[in-house]
Amino acid sequence: MKAAPFAYVRPSTLPDAIAELASTDGGGKVIAGGQSLVPVLAMRLARPETLVDINSVAELDRIGTAGGYLEIGATVRQRRVERDPVSAAVPLLGMALPWVGHRELRSRGTVCGSLAHADPAAELPAVACCLNAELVVTGTGGARRVPAREFFSGAMTTALGPSDILTAARFPIAGRGEGFGFAEIARRHGDFALAGVAARVRVRGAETDAELTGFGVSDRPVTCSAGGELATALSECGGDVSRLASTLSGPLTAVAEELVDTDGDAHASRDYRRRLFRTLASRELSKAYERARRSAGEVNP
Ligand SMILES: Cc1cc2nc3c(=O)[nH]c(=O)nc-3n(C[C@H](O)[C@H](O)[C@H](O)COP(=O)(O)OP(=O)(O)OC[C@H]3O[C@@H](n4cnc5c(N)ncnc54)[C@H](O)[C@@H]3O)c2cc1C
Repeated sequence: MKAAPFAYVRPSTLPDAIAELASTDGGGKVIAGGQSLVPVLAMRLARPETLVDINSVAELDRIGTAGGYLEIGATVRQRRVERDPVSAAVPLLGMALPWVGHRELRSRGTVCGSLAHADPAAELPAVACCLNAELVVTGTGGARRVPAREFFSGAMTTALGPSDILTAARFPIAGRGEGFGFAEIARRHGDFALAGVAARVRVRGAETDAELTGFGVSDRPVTCSAGGELATALSECGGDVSRLASTLSGPLTAVAEELVDTDGDAHASRDYRRRLFRTLASRELSKAYERARRSAGEVNP
């Protein structure tokens, strides 16, 4: 099919882009990489009156570190983030990006576009939630920072208002003693995940804490801040990583019951997704824990 007719504007400043969106009274849509929006237009699942192309807004095309964050502007392509050495400051991003579709898609698709699109099975929203990234939203009232865990409110639904632009995503830079894990199961490489996990573990002396985000398992990325049982299970294993899987299986069963609340579909039942989630979570938490201990200097690199 072909898209329904729409007007197209390409402003060169952020205030103009916001004004263009505001003037459509909810009938406009931002286009960034077009990798999700164009197929949706072609299928006529969306019929915006106006597309506001933000690719000529120079200030949105920046990536760099500042104030403890890696900041990625709205027009920065996923592939650029993947290749830029500055991204090493956020290892979880580097682990997740190769899972986002295919390289050709990533050379057009933007990080902020993926967050704004908010597919429940997408990788980058899960990374943002696991790290509780700050999402910078700019609209007619100015800019505000929304924690990622408050940004996603349902499938394809976010805190963005009709004339808001997600101008940047700020991911916290990893510190000493932090380790990460990321994995998913999809039917083919490049497909959206049936179930996936992002894990972050922090080891500080005798204290361990962990954060686990599931995706493809609910209508949005779901995060468990595992200060309790999971962190205890990780700590109890001490150096014996071979014991981790069995020690984690009890607490993870409860976590899977709580977090995996999607209905079954043609590809996988809820029970199967719960099993996938438990298995992936156990593996990735174990890896993240080992990496955290290496980063803390507790074991040799
Ligand atoms: C075959 C195929 C396979 C794919 N596989 C995956 C996959 O495995 N995992 C995955 O995560 N994604 C996948 N994608 C989607 C891809 O990653 C997109 O790049 C991404 O979801 C959207 O980024 P974009 O810049 O192209 O956004 P666009 O397509 O331009 O926009 C997507 C939506 O976000 C809005 N939007 C975009 N930028 C902003 C902004 N700055 N502020 C406010 N709203 C904005 C648009 O209005 C639109 O509603 C796939 C796409 C295709 C076609």
